[in-house]
Amino acid sequence: MNLEQRIEDMRDEIIKSTQEIIRKKSVKDSPKNVMPFGEDIHNCFTHTLNLCGEFGFKTKNIDNYGGHAEFGHGEEVVGVLVHLDVVPEGDNWTYPPYGGEIHDDKIYGRGAIDDKGPAIAALYAMKAIRDSGVKLSKKIRIIFGLDEESGWEGLNYYLKHEKAPNVAFTPDADFPAIHGEKGILIFDLVKDFKNKSNDEGVRVLSITGGNRPNMVPDYCEAHLVCDTQLKKKLDEYIKKNNVKLNITEMKDRVIIKSYGVSAHGSLPENGENAVSQMILFLNTLNLSKGDISDFIRLYSNKIGMQYYGQSIGCGFRDMPSGNLIFNVGVLNLTEDNVKLGINIRYPVTFKDEDVLDGIKNELVDTGLNIVIKVHKKPIYLPKNHELIQKLMEVYRRFTGDDSEPITIGGGTYARSMDNAVAFGPLFPGQPDVAHQKDEHIGIEDLVKITKIYAYALYELAK
Ligand SMILES: [Zn+2]
Repeated sequence: MNLEQRIEDMRDEIIKSTQEIIRKKSVKDSPKNVMPFGEDIHNCFTHTLNLCGEFGFKTKNIDNYGGHAEFGHGEEVVGVLVHLDVVPEGDNWTYPPYGGEIHDDKIYGRGAIDDKGPAIAALYAMKAIRDSGVKLSKKIRIIFGLDEESGWEGLNYYLKHEKAPNVAFTPDADFPAIHGEKGILIFDLVKDFKNKSNDEGVRVLSITGGNRPNMVPDYCEAHLVCDTQLKKKLDEYIKKNNVKLNITEMKDRVIIKSYGVSAHGSLPENGENAVSQMILFLNTLNLSKGDISDFIRLYSNKIGMQYYGQSIGCGFRDMPSGNLIFNVGVLNLTEDNVKLGINIRYPVTFKDEDVLDGIKNELVDTGLNIVIKVHKKPIYLPKNHELIQKLMEVYRRFTGDDSEPITIGGGTYARSMDNAVAFGPLFPGQPDVAHQKDEHIGIEDLVKITKIYAYALYELAK
């Protein structure tokens, strides 16, 4: 059995299939007839199932919510969890986002690395094993998810109708093997304001910033009413704190704008939170007393510019996964109420109750309530777990990199079942181009991950 040579022989087909699947734009859209995620995703899905069929694999379509391709015999199933949907392309691409063009030995296009290239790699890995004729004791099954980037409705539907594989990996993050993913909690802190501001001091009419809890907001705007001039005070504050704020004084109100730096909510240290920056400035003003000024003071004291939750009762940390990450993603405040959208990634050995109890303790008597939107439990397999050991052995053999398994804050399909972890496709030190303009996959990397996945599947299914 020489899987490596077989994959080398298929190099041109692997490249061609990757280009073709990138050309099938698959951004989620409103449902249409029997296509729950819109026509584009559906077309990409049928294109992929047809390709699997041409290779001679048994395919199954679960009511257009997802499906799989498999081969082999045996009771147990080794799964690969991939997704065919992509995030919208955005602007400023050097090459067409759905062109699948090759430049400098890289295939460019939305989905190249996330997750269409890896899906094709998994498919050719399975083909190489099948063509080699090697005997396996388990089935291999590639499961195609159709809305990984938003909601996971498709995979959840699939798993209601099909048994989960006994063991699986998902090529949708980083190498080496990822033995832990932090727990994710998304919630709003809410309060209706009863104690309205009286007329003395600066009155806050509204504060608005951010769109999504899992992003660091790069913009926030506050509308105020005040008698005194704020310009001088703001200029001094900017000088002292080196922040980007500006002011527009109008007849009936003053508008303050705060500019930060956007980043993913799992990496707030890479950004600058425009909402927090705004609140800290407002807290230095002589605000008129009431629920709003109380909220601003509380935010300044308990959150401020922190992103590990230290002052709000959840500054947890553990050995396998490090600090809890606390990101304020959205603020909508009016004179009537406030809604603060928060995204937390908590360490793998903690529970959601630990986090929520810690926060509630700090919010006693503030009138702020927690409304939970999403909770995804952490996953954690010890480094000596059989799955981790097998994946690591293959990874090390192909890369010579003997670094240890890692944990991440992101959330992959691995969370949807037991005994599943993320494994690749990004190698350590490579820039993460997923969701960015000019997303691409290097051709050498594409071939290399196909080999790694082939041997990983073989080790797990033999
Ligand atoms: Zn992905």
